[in-house]
Parts: sequence; C-alpha cells; structure tokens
Amino acid sequence: MCGIFGAFNVDRAALHAYWGLYALQHRGQESAGICTTDGKEFFVVKKQGLVLEAIKREDLERLKGRAAVAHVRYSTAGDAGGANAQPILAETSKGTFALVHNGNLVNYKVLRKELTEEGVKFSYTSDSEVFVHLIDRSEGWVPEGMQLHPRDKDFLPYLFDALRTVEGAYSILLLLKDRLIAARDPHGFRPLQIGRSGESWFFASESVAFDIVGAEFKRELKPGEVVVVDGEGLRSYFPFRNSSARRAACIFEYIYFARPDSYIFGDWVYEVRKRLGRELAREVAGRFEVDAVVPVPDSGIVPAIGFSQESGVPLELGLIRNHYVGRSFIEPTQELRDLKVLMKLSPVKPVLRGKRIAIIDDSLVRGTTSRRIVKMLKRAGAEKVFVLIASPPVRYPCFYGIDIPTKEELIANRLDLEGIRDHIGADGLYYLSVEGMLRAVKGKREEYCTACFTGDYPTPAGG
Ligand code: 5GP
Ligand code: MG
Repeated sequence: MCGIFGAFNVDRAALHAYWGLYALQHRGQESAGICTTDGKEFFVVKKQGLVLEAIKREDLERLKGRAAVAHVRYSTAGDAGGANAQPILAETSKGTFALVHNGNLVNYKVLRKELTEEGVKFSYTSDSEVFVHLIDRSEGWVPEGMQLHPRDKDFLPYLFDALRTVEGAYSILLLLKDRLIAARDPHGFRPLQIGRSGESWFFASESVAFDIVGAEFKRELKPGEVVVVDGEGLRSYFPFRNSSARRAACIFEYIYFARPDSYIFGDWVYEVRKRLGRELAREVAGRFEVDAVVPVPDSGIVPAIGFSQESGVPLELGLIRNHYVGRSFIEPTQELRDLKVLMKLSPVKPVLRGKRIAIIDDSLVRGTTSRRIVKMLKRAGAEKVFVLIASPPVRYPCFYGIDIPTKEELIANRLDLEGIRDHIGADGLYYLSVEGMLRAVKGKREEYCTACFTGDYPTPAGG
C-alpha cells in the first residue's frame, strides 16, 4: 500500500508535494520521497520515516522546480527498509523520468524473471521497477486507430506498451522534464484523482491531499485511463478500451484504508462507513442487548456512528487513542503488534464499569486488536463485551496492495465464528455480511474487488 501525489505548473512544487504527502501519511509510514524537475534537471529526496521526520527544510530547498511527484510507502513484511523508497528516478533509452506507484502487480515475478534472463539488472526488490525496464526496452505500441497528440508520440507508445504487459493493480505517476503522466489500471483497483487550482494541476491517491494544498477536486481517473499534463493542458487516452477487464475498485479502501474525509470511487468514505455501521445494526437487531456502542479508534468511529444512529444504542467513547505512539511500534512483527495495541488505546472506566458494551471495529484480520481490547474492557469493569465488525470475515490474501497476510495468518481461515469469538474472549461476535457490505456502497457488486472477503479475484494471476 502506498500514497502518491503529483504537482505540475506550481510554484514551489516540492512544498506542495510535502503537504500532499502529509495528508496521505495514513497510506504509508515506512518511507517518504519527493522528486522534482526544473525542466532541465531532476532532484530527488527519499528517506525512511514519516513525512515530517524524513523530509527536512534543506531537502525542500534542494528540490527545485515547478513539477513534482511524491510517494509514501507502506511497509509490507519481507521488504522492510528504505531501499524500496520511491520515487524511482530512472535514466532510460526513452529519457529520464521519475515514477511513483501505488498497487501491486500480480505478474511481477514472471516479468522480473523474463527481464533478468534478457540481461536486465534490477536495483530494487519492489515490483514498481518493472515499469522502468519495460519502458526502457519497449519498441512502442499504440492501439489500432488511436491518434496521439504530436507531443505524446515520443513517450506514450512505450508507456502504453509497458502498461499492456503488466497485470494487477497500479495507480502511477511519471514525471518527465516537461510533463506529468498519470495512469490507472483497467480494473481501477486503487484510487487516483485529478485536482486543479488555476493553471496548476495536481494528482493524488485521495482527495484530502487537494484540500491541504488548496486545490479543487476535479475528478478521478477512470479505470484504464492515461492522462498527460503539460504546458498545453490536459489530454486523456484510453489505450485499453477493448480490454475485457472489469472495474474492480478495492472495497477495503472504503472499509479501512482511505481517510474518512476523502471522496474516492465516486462516494464519500465517511458516508460509506456510516452505511456499513447502519447495515450492521440492521443485521444484528434483536440479537443482544447492550448499554452502549464503543468504537475502536480511529477506524471504528464512523461505522459506530452509523450503528448508533440506526439502532438507537448510545455511542460512547470508551476507548481513547494515544496519538503519540512512536514509529518504533509500527513494525510488523507479532510481538510488537500486541504491544502496539496496548500502547495505542486505553479504556475510559466510567463508560465501561458494570456496563454491557458493544465494541465496533472496521475489520478483523488476525484477531489481535479485538482480543486485546476485549481483555482491556473486561479488566476495566465491563460486564459484557460484544464485538461487532463492520465488514465480513477476511478470508483471502490480497494480491493488489492491501497488507492482508497469508491465508494461514487470517484468523477467519483457521477458526469458525464460534472459534474466533472464543479466541478473542467476547460474549458475542457479529460480522457484517457480504450482502450488507455491498448494500453500503454505490453501484454494482461486480464493480468492486471483494477478493479478501469472497476469494473472487478479478485477475487470473491472483487466484
Ligand atoms: P487484527 O488486529 O485483527 O489483525 O486487525 C484488525 C485491525 O487492524 C483493525 O482495527 C483494523 O482497523 C486494522 N487494519 C485493517 N487492515 C489493516 C492494514 O492493512 N494495516 C494496518 N496497519 N491495520 C489494518
Ligand atoms: Mg483499527
């Protein structure tokens, strides 16, 4: 998982990128990076850590120019460390460019093997690098009948060729000396949006990044769309119009990943989360009695509001989040994950003592969070603790960029409902149904990727 941001024709593009990344920080805390160009040279800074600690004033001064791409990276197990930080700045046979990528390619291993056999040397272990080599080696491809703007003829055929070769999830930005290019895979797994302020253009994973730089949200790139922005304005292409790929917007973006104040996939995340809570309230009506519903901060807050409004059960903040948890606790090992929950949340005893409580969280993955919280609430004096999850059981790994682990680590894969309830020590456990979840989002079921819940993978290589 990652967050990406781009700026074109903007004074102090690096500073805008810095604030854009700051707004997208929730999408990745492992590393942060910005690349700018002044039309002649490229400047790049990428480091481990949160945006505010990784990128310094001196860095921003070095990052000259009126165009930028930027990236925050989420640490997934296996390739921790700053080595895979982006942007990737590449000198290729088709010119120099900087690339940022959000998503996961499902045919990466095959492509890497093929390219390596052809003599390509890889510098990183992340899948994003294949775009660079595919462009570098491409002989160009343009869909039959497509007319390219004269200014796009020197690069887009190579990009199109690379894009038709990769499979899986990508929202990418490419910064060239004189233009910025954005592309979204034909399934549209990950969001990617266009913002504008006067003659300045912005791109971002989520609309909250436009809010912070004072730009206006224009629209989302469509699945399969390639957009070029340069001194002449914006041009749009659909090189995969004839592809059979179905739209497959990641429903987990709505459930957990995106910020509640973002507008993605044509809806407000806040509204969707509230509806998830409402649907859950309808599904569990009459099955237990509680004195209060308590959200697990922050991800359970919005569904809990919806739940409370629908059910009439009062909402109480029985868990308070400590916002000053240091980075050393954001490491993906089991031990630290347990500690992290305790460091992060504490019980509000007057809300809990002697009360029957329903806690609500957005999702249950390994069961770590819920187990800790149930224990915490009981210790704080709660008489009964019911656990409500505003999404269905996560049963299948994600191949498209969400950090949903292997099948074995997913508790819903090892235990049945009663087994999970017992493991987390709750007096009751209720998940939202797949149907309930789909009622909470706009559009048709087939327009979303629900693979982590249903095993219905939208790409062949993912199954
Ligand atoms: P569990 O503790 O059951 O493994 O995970 C559930 C908790 O993790 C929920 O509170 C949910 O908000 C959060 N969560 C869900 N998906 C992700 C993810 O991809 N990364 C991180 N860091 N947390 C997640
Ligand atoms: Mg959470």
